[in-house]
Amino acid sequence: MKIIMLSYYIRIICFSSEKLIYHEALIIQHSWLRGDFMADFSEGKIIEYLQKIMDSKFARFIMKNMSEPKKIQKALAIYAGVEEPSSIKEKLHASIVAKAIEKSADMFNAKPEDIKNFLKDSYIRKGFSVIIRGIAEYGITKPQRLSAPFMVVWDFTKQCNLKCKHCYANATPYPAPDELSLEQRYEVVDQLDEAGVAAISFSGGEPLINKDFWPVAEYASKKGFYLSVATNGTLISEEVAKRLKKIGIRYVEISIDGPTADIHDSFRGIKGAFDRAINGIKNAKEAGLEVGIATTATHHNLDMIPDIVKLARDLNVDRLIVFNFIPTGRGKEIVKDDLSPEEREKLMEYLHSEWEKGKMQIFSTCPAYARVSLNSVMEKKGHKVSPTHFADFELPEEMLGAGKVLAEFIGGCGAGRIYCSIEHNGDIQPCVFIPIKVGNVIKDGFQNVWDNSEVFKILRDRDAENYACSKCPYRYVCGGCRARSYAYYGNLVSPDPGCIIMKDEWEKILKRENVLSQ
Ligand code: SF4
Ligand code: SF4
Repeated sequence: MKIIMLSYYIRIICFSSEKLIYHEALIIQHSWLRGDFMADFSEGKIIEYLQKIMDSKFARFIMKNMSEPKKIQKALAIYAGVEEPSSIKEKLHASIVAKAIEKSADMFNAKPEDIKNFLKDSYIRKGFSVIIRGIAEYGITKPQRLSAPFMVVWDFTKQCNLKCKHCYANATPYPAPDELSLEQRYEVVDQLDEAGVAAISFSGGEPLINKDFWPVAEYASKKGFYLSVATNGTLISEEVAKRLKKIGIRYVEISIDGPTADIHDSFRGIKGAFDRAINGIKNAKEAGLEVGIATTATHHNLDMIPDIVKLARDLNVDRLIVFNFIPTGRGKEIVKDDLSPEEREKLMEYLHSEWEKGKMQIFSTCPAYARVSLNSVMEKKGHKVSPTHFADFELPEEMLGAGKVLAEFIGGCGAGRIYCSIEHNGDIQPCVFIPIKVGNVIKDGFQNVWDNSEVFKILRDRDAENYACSKCPYRYVCGGCRARSYAYYGNLVSPDPGCIIMKDEWEKILKRENVLSQ
């Protein structure tokens, strides 16, 4: 089941970032629809607008007096009418926030009531505060740097009931000896809350197999996070699905590797896994959860992707996420099954065209999907853009400039910039697929690591001289998969050998691995 995670980390963020940042675009869009907005809706205008906001008293106020995410969240909650001020200071903060928001909303003819409704959701407030603080701290950057990740994928346990060939986590039938205690897991939630993280995705191993999952998820739910679970689906009975819904899980992502039981079970290593996963999907839908199917594209199943799309549509799931293969963990053993740049490019184009056909979201963890979807919209072949693994937005032709700005703001690969992962023992990594420990939540403190990790600093700079993509026009939209660079070259700033623009790199890899002669 290991393959799942990223989808939501990003999807979730996307859900928030897109809605948060995107909130500005929506305001603009509303005005545009009413025909009373500036005809010249250019990239420059958007940047100018954001800069105006951040150069206002509001921004200075945030920087000087509201540096803690909790204070911004509280001010937004008071503004939205879901919390009362408990001091004159809080009342003052809220009135300044209200003035600033309504002034900018007025600029684009947005209704304050719409904004208030939008901010009633606690995780939207969390995400909003992370963006505000990110801009206040770093200014507007391409892509945007944040004061805390929108989303953390938490590999909650090493334990799993399956033996998938592509498992990045090398999951085992038993928990690892160094797994966190229940108290330490609560502390992780507390630290993420303090930092201002908006979303947590529980992954593993199989998170549902671990006894601490339920109390910890419930604890996190009460703190207002957007919560999701990446699972192999085999343990989602009707009761489990209802319980997930009840404790506040919003999204469940279930791995399916092929359209039939034979294919899926052979990949998953356990007979019956497919039927149980399909039942899990149906139970989760029935319980009212948002449900996604995750599949990893390799030579093993590339020809079957259209059948998997059909299966996802037949099951009426909300989302299909096609994971990019990364040769790490047990995935190292099947490098020759990785797609060529041409195969990957065609797959991205196919997925985008399928997404354009219907309401089911189709995402990919391949950052090239951002480039492919944005180009398709710029060429007026579609309207849907996925600027990172989990995000999507739709734009009318008149707003193409906004699409580019938003895509560059969100920025493709989010590792160490808008997302990171936490391992079963509290170790922090840039991404579940990048096995580099940059610190430990319990020993080093999450915020400290997020602010000071040298590895994260490298991942946040798309213009560094030694970064392989630094001259590419798509570096802010895509950035290449840093996990693939690391897996193939042992270097985070090397090329992503799956990129069509750098396809010579793939030929070199094939020669190096001696795969061509096999
Ligand atoms: S060169 Fe890098 S940024 Fe450009 S498209 Fe390829 S992977 Fe993406
Ligand atoms: S390194 Fe970046 S693009 Fe690759 S899987 Fe992680 S977040 Fe996604």
